[in-house]
Amino acid sequence: MSATVLDGKKVSAEIRAELTERVERLTRTYRPPGLAVILAGHDPASEIYVRNKVKACAEAGIRSFQSTPAASVSTEELLVLVDSYNRNPEVDGILIQMPLPPQVDAQRILLSVDPSKDADGFHPLNVGNLVANRPGPRSCTPAGVMELLRRYEVPLAGRRAVVVGRSDIVGKPMALLLLHANATVTICHSRTKDLAHECSRAEILVAAMGKPALIDRSFIREGAVVIDVGINRITDRDEVHRLFQHDPARLQAFARSGSVVVGDVDPLSMIQRSSAYTPVPGGVGPLTIAMLLSNTVSLAEQHLLS
Ligand code: NDP
Repeated sequence: MSATVLDGKKVSAEIRAELTERVERLTRTYRPPGLAVILAGHDPASEIYVRNKVKACAEAGIRSFQSTPAASVSTEELLVLVDSYNRNPEVDGILIQMPLPPQVDAQRILLSVDPSKDADGFHPLNVGNLVANRPGPRSCTPAGVMELLRRYEVPLAGRRAVVVGRSDIVGKPMALLLLHANATVTICHSRTKDLAHECSRAEILVAAMGKPALIDRSFIREGAVVIDVGINRITDRDEVHRLFQHDPARLQAFARSGSVVVGDVDPLSMIQRSSAYTPVPGGVGPLTIAMLLSNTVSLAEQHLLS
């Protein structure tokens, strides 16, 4: 039987459509929800992410406020900026695009965001809410994965889940959300011994390492549900041809542009071994933005309706 594609684009469109009514109600009664985005410096990937987030806000009827301080910005200057958004009554959510320039104390900046405006769920107070399974904004990527699993009715309770990666943004919150859904969760990282063995026991496998196609068929249990969070751009011709020999369209795209995006999981192994999987691109990626919009609308509802 062929594996089910967990279609992030489709689910993202559903989530956004469902938000429309909530945004219209807020706009009619009070004002549009507002999201402030701070992008310090000129990291090319960050610039693309921010552009996409601002565009998605506009499409959803969310007002966005953008600040683009120079790469040389100091911690103190950023604190002043965050404070101005904390006080701005038209701003419901604040997003600080990571990574911040090296001279900036990122922890201090994240801590300075008003927890009731924490669109990414990175403030320690909201991390605590997550650990305690109390309401609060959740980190967008893992929240999107949970939404995808829920909408495809993937059972989690009592199942063995393995999360590879333990970052504050993806791996840790992902593991906690799966735990709260009653999965039996193992977290793996760069010091894990015999990663293949740990992964091969997973009924739900979430890969969030940032290592192109490291997870091959020997890591994937037959019939597992595989969630590939990784986004890696590769340019090596031999590697591209090895990984995408089954996919002429991707090889053509590579011939045109000289690079291709691959996840942390070997694409063909994932298709052949799993019962369901997220493609890269078009799996987890689109959900991250949808959940950012969803978090912003929820924060606006708390500010305006409660
Ligand atoms: P980080 O670099 O912050 O974390 C990577 C994690 O993977 C670390 O915990 C690290 O372990 C672990 N790791 C690295 N190498 C190995 C290895 N060989 N074996 C086992 N574990 C390993 O990355 P992020 O969590 O921010 O992102 C992970 C991936 O997800 C990236 O590709 C990123 O681009 C992508 N991403 C995608 C998003 C989307 O919307 N689809 C959103 C956010 C991220 P250790 O802690 O020991 O160093």
